[in-house]
Amino acid sequence: MSARSSGRAAPRGVAILGSTGSIGTTALRVLARQRDRFRVAALTAFSNAALLEEQAAEFTPSFVGLVSGDGCRGAWTSGADCLVAAAERDDVDIVLNAVVGAAGLDATLAALARGKRVALANKETLVMGGALVTDAARRGGGEIVPVDSEHSAILQCIASRPSSEVRRVVLTASGGPFRGWTRDRIENATVTDALRHPTWQMGRKITVDSASLANKALEVIEAHHLFGVPYDRIDVVVHPQSVVHSFVEFIDGSTVAQLGVPSMELPVLYALTHPERVHDTGVPPYDPTELSPLTFEAVRWEDFPALRLGVDAGRRGGAQPAVFNAANEEAVAQFLEGKIPFGGIARAIASALAALDGVAGGTLDALRSADHAARIHVREMAGC
Ligand code: NAD
Ligand code: MG
Repeated sequence: MSARSSGRAAPRGVAILGSTGSIGTTALRVLARQRDRFRVAALTAFSNAALLEEQAAEFTPSFVGLVSGDGCRGAWTSGADCLVAAAERDDVDIVLNAVVGAAGLDATLAALARGKRVALANKETLVMGGALVTDAARRGGGEIVPVDSEHSAILQCIASRPSSEVRRVVLTASGGPFRGWTRDRIENATVTDALRHPTWQMGRKITVDSASLANKALEVIEAHHLFGVPYDRIDVVVHPQSVVHSFVEFIDGSTVAQLGVPSMELPVLYALTHPERVHDTGVPPYDPTELSPLTFEAVRWEDFPALRLGVDAGRRGGAQPAVFNAANEEAVAQFLEGKIPFGGIARAIASALAALDGVAGGTLDALRSADHAARIHVREMAGC
């Protein structure tokens, strides 16, 4: 009996951009349990051809793309354009953008322009493109559903109430590996220190961003664009257990929180099914007696300067969020290569923001050239 004649909807096609990464592999674990509802229609990766081949054998997508040409197999598409090609396919209803960095922007825009759902892990896309991305969704009829755990929590807490009823959103932050460290110790933290995240297993770039709190700055900007909440009504609180994923305070004084064990499988599944909830037992439910106590503390803004730099860049608008993002991406790459100290990441961002202050950001071309200029600035600072 076909899906239609049985009364059940046909599975929705999902493209996973960045399928070999942390979010990409998490998503495939979720999709392996949800084959009745979703079909993996397209997979793309940057260079890990061996893992991509295994994934393609297991999920038999109709499209496979590898950005780096080396290792490309028979019918695969190679080159950077494979992301957009996957996002635009007719058999793709949902694009899970799990690419890291600004490289994901074109595919997000292409999917939104074709009226598709973008399940967005690639927050850098929204920080860089800002209103241009949300406008693309409005014009094309597409929708952005966040994968980031904090934004998934906010979406679930707001539960379709208008933004006029929201008084404040409070993003939780684990505090990262340097939560209890002095500023001097943080300045000279090693790559191994920065990659030792206490609660989440993630890709290297976001793990470093979580140590500097640049990730939380990206998330504040992301929340501003996703939920239309002004910056002075977005706060951050440190919550080391990563169980409460965010709070929403409403105008009547009630605060709603979303809780779950720290697993990205929950927000990935919700981004695919929103606003519905579907049966799934892949992640153990939160047990209050087991994961106790839950604690909260104020952010040490002076000791994590990347957070303030990013939030201020968001407030200033124009090309500043794109400059913040690009300078951070470049500085993190240099830190990971041992070229600059950990404290140098925030200094590089501050310097790029000052050098490119006042640069316009009203068009995609303007944002791309600001992104490029910020990367050059940071490279020159490090003598590369
Ligand atoms: P990752 O480094 O583990 O994976 C990145 C993926 O993107 C890989 O599959 C890689 O092949 C692909 N990729 C990298 N550069 C590319 C390029 N230039 N062009 C095309 N593809 C490229 O990273 P991750 O931890 O999975 O994070 C992915 C995104 O999700 C990031 O934006 C991150 O901020 C966000 N995110 C991650 C988590 C998490 O738990 N890992 C949580 C929230 C948000
Ligand atoms: Mg997050």
